[in-house]
Amino acid sequence: MIFKGGYVGKILRVDLSTKQYKTEPVNEDHLLKLLGGRGLAAKMYYDEIGPEVKPFDEANKIFFITGPLTGVNLPSTTKFQLSTRSPETGMYLCSNCGGDFGPGLKQCGFDGMIIEGKASEWTYLMIRDGDVSFCDARSMLGQNSHAAMNTLKEAIGDPKAAAMSVGPAAERLVRISYINVDTRAFGRGGGGAVFGSKRLKGIVLKGSGTIPVADKEKVDEIRKAAVRDLRDSRANHTKYGTAQYIEPINELGCMPTRNFQTTYFEKSDTVNADTMYEEYLEKNYACFHCTVACGKVCEVKNGPFAGARARTEYETVALLGPNCGIDDFGAVVKGNQLCDEMGIDTMSAGNAVALTMELYERGLITEQDTDGIEARFGNAQAMIDIIRLIAERRCIGDLLAEGMAGVARERPEWRPYILAVKGMPFAAYDPRGFYGNALTYGTSNRGACHNVGGWTIRAELQSGQYDRFALKGKGALVKSIQDNRAYVDSLGLCTVVRGSMNFSAQPDGEVMTSVTGYDFTPLLLAIGSRIYTLERLILSREGIRRKDDMMPERVFKEAVPSGPIKGRVLTEEMYAEMLDEYYDERGWDKDGVPSEQTLAGLGLSDLI
Ligand code: SF4
Repeated sequence: MIFKGGYVGKILRVDLSTKQYKTEPVNEDHLLKLLGGRGLAAKMYYDEIGPEVKPFDEANKIFFITGPLTGVNLPSTTKFQLSTRSPETGMYLCSNCGGDFGPGLKQCGFDGMIIEGKASEWTYLMIRDGDVSFCDARSMLGQNSHAAMNTLKEAIGDPKAAAMSVGPAAERLVRISYINVDTRAFGRGGGGAVFGSKRLKGIVLKGSGTIPVADKEKVDEIRKAAVRDLRDSRANHTKYGTAQYIEPINELGCMPTRNFQTTYFEKSDTVNADTMYEEYLEKNYACFHCTVACGKVCEVKNGPFAGARARTEYETVALLGPNCGIDDFGAVVKGNQLCDEMGIDTMSAGNAVALTMELYERGLITEQDTDGIEARFGNAQAMIDIIRLIAERRCIGDLLAEGMAGVARERPEWRPYILAVKGMPFAAYDPRGFYGNALTYGTSNRGACHNVGGWTIRAELQSGQYDRFALKGKGALVKSIQDNRAYVDSLGLCTVVRGSMNFSAQPDGEVMTSVTGYDFTPLLLAIGSRIYTLERLILSREGIRRKDDMMPERVFKEAVPSGPIKGRVLTEEMYAEMLDEYYDERGWDKDGVPSEQTLAGLGLSDLI
């Protein structure tokens, strides 16, 4: 083996149809070129999921892949990756998740796990080191995702075992269902519905193995220095979590408000980080080996939603709060809790509720469609009730459960009110407030996503380095952030702590040699670029072209009507200028397809 540590060398392949499993060696050449994690998950998808496979076909598979740092004794080595055909967008999906499951998979002796086939009856998987049991999950049907998680942990006899589960929404094939993973989730893209289509209620595991590293003393030294650094550099994450962004994003006029009709929420006094911290925060929580603990458990103590409790993040607050016109933080926590129990993604749910409210206010739907709910912006109880309609597939909820792509297909006349790219609803930033963010949404390899697509907030809104309304230079900026994120996602490390170990735009330091014994560090950016283009190649094979990278009508046609960026618009022509620059930077043709020359230059010709 080339590597002296980091990897454990095997992939577990589980077939639900035959109840058989086997192990396969990891291809070291693929690791050299793609690191692991997101890179390897893309390669496996490329090899095994043809463009003809539909999300709910038995032939669809789920690839869970760790990175070389996952589970290693360094801060926040918690992440692992999923790839599958997305029920929400209908195309390739990559997703990234923390918690204990990824490290636990490696402790069981596996760098990754492939789930294929379809069980004849509802099943859960129990993995103890290298052994896999196919267990009867029929009695778990209807359990919410937390209850299912507890059942799984009881079954393996350890409340601290790592587990993932799906809720009732996944059982009904709601296309925005997520996979609950320990304290985190594979949120976007509908991975939970793929579990549902395979009659898989959950997976629980317990491993006793250790993860080798090439130089243990050096790894210990790096860990201590990183922990010291994180105390100061991530103090705001420890105190407020991602809620710290609510106020600045609103003040800059980038807050999605009432289904992105405007970008400034005038009632933000009660929906912000200080309110969360002073009135709702119960405790912090952390993923595996994390000292930052950016997770916030919030509890509602008073008012109509007293007793509600949820793990609340910026995106959830923005999309269930201001985007639904709601200024009651307690209602947001309640909506968050319901999404978690039902097992649906809070971001897609927030967009779906906001769309319903706009349709209702415009008179395009009535209370007959909403089961009597008065679906007006600002009606907190309506927000909660609409989430339930989606999870239970009742009334308009049945259509919303098909995701934005399904809604647009069924009701093309509603497209002006749908904020999505490639079927993935917008994240919680309005791109008319910083134009690089539009390119982020347009060129993200899973649809409108601020993570995979490139988080330009620091560069465009916080650092002063870029004019947020400039066009020139945004193609290069977005490409650089995307490539960075692609390699970090493939390491198995949380992006919040990356700077403490020098995994920046100019990666440096000795982490990779100390862990793997191989000098990956100078290669990381090129690997990130290779991964991003491999993913685009998959999308191209699935029919994605320039037309699919466009913004929805509201962004191109409607000027922001109020707030700090009143009057701003991003026209199609302006966007096209950025997109052309981006394609040039990537070496993709005018239609967004990677050229042969680019594939050869990135060393991808040998891999595909
Ligand atoms: S910083 Fe937050 S997301 Fe990252 S590992 Fe820690 S708790 Fe998890």
